[in-house]
Amino acid sequence: MVFIDVHCHLDFYKSDKRIFERIERAKKANVGIIINNGVNGNANQKILEMVEKYPEIKAALGFYPVDALKLTEDELDRELRLIRDNLHKIVALGEVGLDLKENPNLKTQKRIFQIFIDMAKQNDKPLIVHSRRAEAETIRLLEENDMKKVIMHCFFGNMNLVKRIIDNGWCFSIPTIIKFSEHFQNLVKIVPISQLFCETDSPYLHPDKKRDNEPANVVEAYNMIAKIKGISLGECEKKIEENYKRLFESNNQ
Ligand SMILES: [Zn+2]
Repeated sequence: MVFIDVHCHLDFYKSDKRIFERIERAKKANVGIIINNGVNGNANQKILEMVEKYPEIKAALGFYPVDALKLTEDELDRELRLIRDNLHKIVALGEVGLDLKENPNLKTQKRIFQIFIDMAKQNDKPLIVHSRRAEAETIRLLEENDMKKVIMHCFFGNMNLVKRIIDNGWCFSIPTIIKFSEHFQNLVKIVPISQLFCETDSPYLHPDKKRDNEPANVVEAYNMIAKIKGISLGECEKKIEENYKRLFESNNQ
C-alpha cells in the first residue's frame, strides 16, 4: 500500500534532522510519495536539493501568488529560469494560482499565473492550484486555457464551482482537515473518486487543529474518503494511486 501526499511544504523546516524524522514517520505510515510544493525561490532551490537526498520526495516547483508579487521583473525571470532548467526533475508545477485574500492585484497575479499555465501545457505537467477567495477567477482562466491536468488544492469554493471542476475533468486534493470540515466532507460526497487526491499542506492544517502537521497524517484524509465513499481503505488507496499514475506519470495530454 502506498499513500500519497500531493501537497506539503517540508522545506519549511530549516534543519535536515526535522525533515528526515518526518520522512521516516511517513514511511512507517506507508506514505511513500510526498510532493513538496514550492512557494518561492528559496523553497524551490531547497526542494531540488531534497529530491536528490530523499527518494520519497517529489518536486513541484512554483510560486505562491502573493510571494510572486514581491519580485522585480528581473528576479521573476531568474526564478522562472530556475524552474525551466529543472523541469526534467519535477512532477508538477505548484503551488501556483490566484489569491484575493492577501492581495487584490488580480491583473498581475493573472499574468504570472498565465506563465505557469503555459509552462504546464508545453511540458505536459499537472498544475497544483491555489485559489483562495479567487475561485471563480481561477477556474475561468484555466478554462480559457483549456487545461486538462489540474489539481485544485484545498478548494474552498461553493458547490456550483465544485460541479464545474468535476465537469472539466479536473481533480481535488483533499486536506486532512476533512476530519472536522463539513465543507470537504460534502465535497467528497459529490466528487468521483477518480478525481480525488489527498494532501496535508503540512506543516499547516493539522487534522486535530494542533501545530506541525506532517505527511504521515495524510492517511487521515484517506480514511475519511473511504468512509464517505463506503469502500475499504485499501480500495481507496488503490484508486488514488491510479489517479496519480494517470496524472503524474503519463504523457498524453
Ligand atoms: Zn500549500
